[in-house]
Amino acid sequence: MNDCGCYSITSTGLMPVNAAIERLRQAGQARTPEIERVSLVQALNRVLAVDILAPVDVPPRDNSAMDGYAVHTDSLGSIPLTLAISQRIPAGVNPEPLRPGTAARIFTGAVIPEGVNAVVMQENCCQATPDSVQIRQAFKAGENIRLIGQDIRTGTRILQQGERLGPAAIGMLASLGLAEAPVYRRLKVAVLSTGDELVEPGSPLQHGGQIYNSNRYLLQALLTRLDCESIDLGVVADNLPDTLAALDKARKLADVVISSGGVSVGEEDHVKTAVEQLGKLDFWKIAIKPGKPLAFGRIGETAFIGFPGNPQSVWITFLILGRQFLLARQGQRFRNEPAGYPVPISFSVAKPLKRVEYLRVRLVETEQGLVLEKHVNQSSGVLSSSLWADGLACIPVDVVLNPGDSVRFMPFSGFGVA
Ligand code: AMP
Ligand code: MG
Repeated sequence: MNDCGCYSITSTGLMPVNAAIERLRQAGQARTPEIERVSLVQALNRVLAVDILAPVDVPPRDNSAMDGYAVHTDSLGSIPLTLAISQRIPAGVNPEPLRPGTAARIFTGAVIPEGVNAVVMQENCCQATPDSVQIRQAFKAGENIRLIGQDIRTGTRILQQGERLGPAAIGMLASLGLAEAPVYRRLKVAVLSTGDELVEPGSPLQHGGQIYNSNRYLLQALLTRLDCESIDLGVVADNLPDTLAALDKARKLADVVISSGGVSVGEEDHVKTAVEQLGKLDFWKIAIKPGKPLAFGRIGETAFIGFPGNPQSVWITFLILGRQFLLARQGQRFRNEPAGYPVPISFSVAKPLKRVEYLRVRLVETEQGLVLEKHVNQSSGVLSSSLWADGLACIPVDVVLNPGDSVRFMPFSGFGVA
């Protein structure tokens, strides 16, 4: 998994990050979404539901890699060699067999006719008359011929079930002649924000106790990037009846319900109680910073994830934890996930940590190469650090680090959300 050293149970009694990830993945994989067929135009970012075996060879016939003259080495006499041009073969034409002792004018991508075993590029030829060509350089069998199936052989497994389709995969499906792809149905995710202090962007704040609701939009944007269908259920007031009603409505509309805030243990936090009444809830204290509390369970049979309230904590716990559940529930297979690689840090970690910390960092070019610089304010209440950053630096527990030491850098692009 990752090299954050977070497999070890922490002395604090908190759940290690990787244990939480594993549980979320398993819970996600416990159910497979239904399958639907979509056109290639709609297939981008969808998760493939079956293995794809090549139904044809690519390319389907030997073809020319160059504009030039198609010949056979049997015609090879002394150079320069003059041959009659017996046919013209542009791309898209089904050619006649080559008359022995002649050349065919041929263009890139055109089918190699029977009786040809080389294409001499036109730069090495001179068309002496309209009907003949002079070849000025020796040529070898196989020259400038792309062989049938050199890209893909019939029957080869080209794409695996559980792969998320990117542009290259879609291009490949098209080159195999496939117009549609069987993919998993899009996951419907209902989003709720809790908090009496929340005001919608676009309306003025009435007093100092109010703040704008950022999680509602942050979470919907994250879900869109992960190709989920988000169902916006707005804000729920901080009381139990409203929370119960909102969660019950949400579970009927969606495959997964996610909420932000209201999962601490204060008397204004009702999400925990409501989920416990409607289904089942695990409340995990995870060795992660920012973050820590994550509520995970189900409302009826609908999965539920309760994120913390601080937008920065939402951002990190979504990327590191919630996303893992959603990808697994979408049917995605995990490979080198999430993408990360070691990069030296420009700062130090003087005191060993008890929770894995995901610092918001930037890649900076120095004379020593690329290093990670951290944002000055790593507070969980500060979302601007993520706007500034290129990604996260994963600081393992129980270590002291000096400038020049390497840590795992996880670019936001590797999460598919940048
Ligand atoms: P809570 O877990 O509900 O106590 O929320 C923790 C902190 O996050 C509080 O300072 C809340 O005001 C803030 N917060 C909760 N929900 C949101 C939201 N949707 N947008 C911005 N801040 C929020
Ligand atoms: Mg609250």
